[in-house]
Amino acid sequence: MSETSDRAGKPRELRSINADEAERFLTEWGHKSYRTTQLLGWLYKKRAGSIAEMSDLPLELRDQLSGAFSLLPLELAREQRSRDGTVKFLWRLADGELIESVLIPASIGRDGSQSDRHTLCVSSQVGCAYGCKFCASGLMGYKRNLDAYEIVDQVLAVERWHLAKGVESPKPEPLANNIVMMGMGEPLANYANLIRALEIFNAPWGMNIGARKITVSTSGLAPQIRRLAETPQQYHLAISLHGATDEVRDKIMPINRKYPLEELISACEAYQQAKGRMIWVEYILIDGVNTGPEQVEALSGLAKRLQCKVNLIPYNPVDGIDLQRPSDETVGRFRDALHHKGVRVTVRIEKGTDIDAACGQLRLKSEKKPAETQALGQAG
Ligand code: SF4
Repeated sequence: MSETSDRAGKPRELRSINADEAERFLTEWGHKSYRTTQLLGWLYKKRAGSIAEMSDLPLELRDQLSGAFSLLPLELAREQRSRDGTVKFLWRLADGELIESVLIPASIGRDGSQSDRHTLCVSSQVGCAYGCKFCASGLMGYKRNLDAYEIVDQVLAVERWHLAKGVESPKPEPLANNIVMMGMGEPLANYANLIRALEIFNAPWGMNIGARKITVSTSGLAPQIRRLAETPQQYHLAISLHGATDEVRDKIMPINRKYPLEELISACEAYQQAKGRMIWVEYILIDGVNTGPEQVEALSGLAKRLQCKVNLIPYNPVDGIDLQRPSDETVGRFRDALHHKGVRVTVRIEKGTDIDAACGQLRLKSEKKPAETQALGQAG
């Protein structure tokens, strides 16, 4: 791979370059060093959708960039809005594949105040190979990893969408000031592209989003958790646990057979030691599967060992998956039992329940009905 082409020799997409690479090829082409700042500014701060927009770059440089790189903005195929302000985006990639991102506004406070905090849930793969039994993304299998620019452009495309709605001038900070890698796919299975995308989100020359506002969520790839622990940035780590014993996890998350709980938890401890940061544990409550007292007992033991916070998420049923959401009473009982054992526990206030909120659902429906998606895409 060179600065301007990928391993297959195709031109690289511009929104996957970092500052060092930009500096190198601009110097090679004979341009002054301030052009690096200008180019990166167009890519990651002004969210340019084309090279032609980069009006303060000389024409010769724009021609060189067009000759050496591609720039392939995501195309909005469909948008769904929830009554609570959550917006779900279905993006079409250059090769026609579909991925999702979800923009989630902060909750309105008890005093009626609304913070301007927005979280964007970002995808890392087309489909997913890990086949968790409750998950819409896993249902359609794995197609491919996203390139770094396809991860980065989910954030930039939401900014362009926001600006197109008539905001007068681009804010220096992105609308989405919290990034969670919890969309379609297993982020740590696409490690190199994930790390490049996180670098672009976080760097001052990139989108300048604090590492503490970037969360990587994993279903439990223990070796990659240890690898992530070696990076200098303080990214937040969330574990999709969903079962507190090997017996339950084996049933609903095949990854557990490769990296059983003990291996996963000791990788989490290594991450905590390296970063000095609290880990979150996500636990989807599925009726009759992982809501029993033995799970409370085991989960409280793991939570105390990791000194972590547990987020309980009542299951959001998915068409084609025969699993159910537990009753509010079961959710409350599970939460209270953990609380009594001294675990910091919350039930996540669900957003977007009136749209296809569970990740992968919108793509799943759209792949089943391509004609409908096209029609909606034109309307959107
Ligand atoms: S929960 Fe995550 S790892 Fe499991 S199938 Fe879904 S996207 Fe893949």
